[in-house]
Amino acid sequence: DLVKQLFMLGVMANQNQSLDTDTIEILADELGIEAVQAEAEIDLDSTDPADPVGFQSFLEENKENAELAERPPVVTIMGHVDHGKTTLLDTLRDARVTAGEAGGITQHIGAYQLESQGKKITFLDTPGHAAFTTMRARGADVTDIAIIVVAADDGVKPQTEEAINHAKAAGVPIIVAINKIDKPTANSDRVKQELMNYELIPEEWGGDTITVEISALMGQNLDELLEMVLLVAEVQELTAPPEGRPLGSVIEARLDKSRGPVATILVQEGTLRVGDPIVVGYTHGRIRTMTDDLGNDITEAGPSKPVEITGLNDTPEAGDNFVVFDDEKTARAIGRKRAEKQQVESRRKTSSMSLETLFENIRDEELKEVALVVKADVRGSVEALASSLQKIEVEGVKVNIIHTGVGAINETDVTLSAASNAIIIGFSVRPNAQASALAEQEGVSIQTYNVIYDAIDDVESAMKGLLDPEY
Ligand code: GDP
Repeated sequence: DLVKQLFMLGVMANQNQSLDTDTIEILADELGIEAVQAEAEIDLDSTDPADPVGFQSFLEENKENAELAERPPVVTIMGHVDHGKTTLLDTLRDARVTAGEAGGITQHIGAYQLESQGKKITFLDTPGHAAFTTMRARGADVTDIAIIVVAADDGVKPQTEEAINHAKAAGVPIIVAINKIDKPTANSDRVKQELMNYELIPEEWGGDTITVEISALMGQNLDELLEMVLLVAEVQELTAPPEGRPLGSVIEARLDKSRGPVATILVQEGTLRVGDPIVVGYTHGRIRTMTDDLGNDITEAGPSKPVEITGLNDTPEAGDNFVVFDDEKTARAIGRKRAEKQQVESRRKTSSMSLETLFENIRDEELKEVALVVKADVRGSVEALASSLQKIEVEGVKVNIIHTGVGAINETDVTLSAASNAIIIGFSVRPNAQASALAEQEGVSIQTYNVIYDAIDDVESAMKGLLDPEY
């Protein structure tokens, strides 16, 4: 009948032919039915690792359709080496068992949940800003609150400064845990004084930075710390749709000899269930088992809940996103398509920023800020360069220096820049070999100078679109 109708309309068609929208509309009209355009909800051509198979479209879908409910905060612990990050994570984890929480023995799955004042809090079990920023660079912004641990007998150190800058670059609120106050050499006031250099003004001194004096080793004041976490969470009004399409991020993953690929994932929206067909980064599967951080087999997991899953086809990477599909066939098709594409393309970022592309981005994306990471050989140069760069403003576009540091440009500088779409400016320093390789892979631009004025001039010219092209 359709072929006949089309013939009458002057279209010679057979059964295997596709029709354009106009023809379909005319045909539908002739037949007295309504033609509806199917939504192309899956973007198979998405090459953005943060957006597997049109991940963003699912976020939008949840936003439009699902009801929101409060969800537990997700916390990352950062700070300088030996200041007590691991001790704090361990003490908090162990305390929940004595607190009478039901369940088995603590399993190290990469994240855990505890309860305080009847409210849940999720902790990521890998401390440090490197893990935090690597996840961000791969598209997973899971952390809601950063606890920065500073040892009271040692004070603010280079990695403390890095942690502060990484948390700020991510726009994550900071709680400072001043640790080791049991030590006779502890000096909390000195730590608070040092924090002022990073625009972290303690509350009792009239600022808005929450500081809590603790001893992670002795378990001192940890309840107060958790209370502050809940307070900050309340201000943030963290919500997620518990009934929306399940999606989230991979915290860590490995290949287990007997169980196959095992991934710890954090549910960010919806409720994940055993049997769900799922696409995770560049792999796919059907959830066979779900285990919580106490080793219990569970059948469903809602927002902010970390669970270890099996049933995937391949091992994903930390920071990969996951989405649940309605049926296994679609999940398989999309998983395969993505795996194919991954082989063809590298994971290289295509949207990276460089001085050459800055002006175009300012023009096209209505960029209001140019993010820079500034490294130099001595503190004085860092400060001089940073303050001069900070003053540049071109037609409402400002420079935002997200991190400064003394010494060679290293891998964390590159990861931070990749996550924040920043350009690295080096003065009398060079990137080390690993940093160069990573920058190449991530498409992060590194500019090095020996004259401060040249650096300032280049950034300003680039922002005005006046930079001479390099040949
Ligand atoms: P991380 O490198 O930041 O993870 O630090 P660790 O948690 O490994 O702690 C480094 C050292 O500091 C270990 O020997 C801990 O026992 C010790 N430590 C951690 N917290 C405290 C504390 O509150 N008081 C004291 N006295 N020692 C602590």
